[in-house]
Amino acid sequence: MHVQLLFVTPDAEALIARCARVSHRSASQGLEDDRRLIRKLLTLGHESVLEHAVATFEISGISRACANQLTRHRLASFVQESQRYVDVRDCALVRPPTFSDEDWAEAQALFEQAKNLYQRLLAQGVPKEDARFVLPLGIETRLVVTANFRELRHILRLRLDRSAQWEIREVARRMWRLLYVEAPSCFEDLKELAEEDG
Ligand SMILES: Cc1cc2nc3c(=O)[nH]c(=O)nc-3n(C[C@H](O)[C@H](O)[C@H](O)COP(=O)(O)OP(=O)(O)OC[C@H]3O[C@@H](n4cnc5c(N)ncnc54)[C@H](O)[C@@H]3O)c2cc1C
Repeated sequence: MHVQLLFVTPDAEALIARCARVSHRSASQGLEDDRRLIRKLLTLGHESVLEHAVATFEISGISRACANQLTRHRLASFVQESQRYVDVRDCALVRPPTFSDEDWAEAQALFEQAKNLYQRLLAQGVPKEDARFVLPLGIETRLVVTANFRELRHILRLRLDRSAQWEIREVARRMWRLLYVEAPSCFEDLKELAEEDG
């Protein structure tokens, strides 16, 4: 799995605080002052100011099962590699940590069979969009996601939780780490969840 931050609003904390200060006509005394204001707003549940900053991630090497979960977040914007257009013969299968070596060897053998059938179907002139029906949910995919900080906090709160599946939880952890570096005051309250084991 690879999670890369493609873009984040520059000086996001300063921008968020600048926007928030419009409501009460205050002036910034610098970054620490901006951070104090953001922490206070989050405590009050005044999260709409976070919508003024956005981040874009490229996520690859995750299963289609994981992508299906991530793309349920309606306030985020996505582009996902299309199995209608891209030949996926080179794609790998994602290994769940619960699979034993024996399970994994069997899964990979099945996957090879599915890819052979996929290749044969393509050779017979079946379009990729139909040939893909024989491919498993564990096949890797790649997507780009953009969301504002408020929605990112929502996604992270749900997907860092123990009740989320291991794979999307790992995606969320990696997203959190990148965001925490960029704008600590906006994401530090999720630190405990992000660093929780198990
Ligand atoms: C642990 C876990 C298990 C899950 N299991 C299942 C499952 O078994 N089956 C299943 O189908 N899904 C499942 N989901 C997906 C879940 O139901 C949501 O679709 C997904 O988490 C997106 O969350 P959301 O709707 O809160 O967020 P987003 O779509 O990211 O929206 C953010 C927020 O905007 C607001 N919002 C967005 N759209 C609307 C709207 N139309 N009307 C009103 N308010 C809106 C809501 O406040 C929402 O919380 C699961 C999710 C988790 C985290």
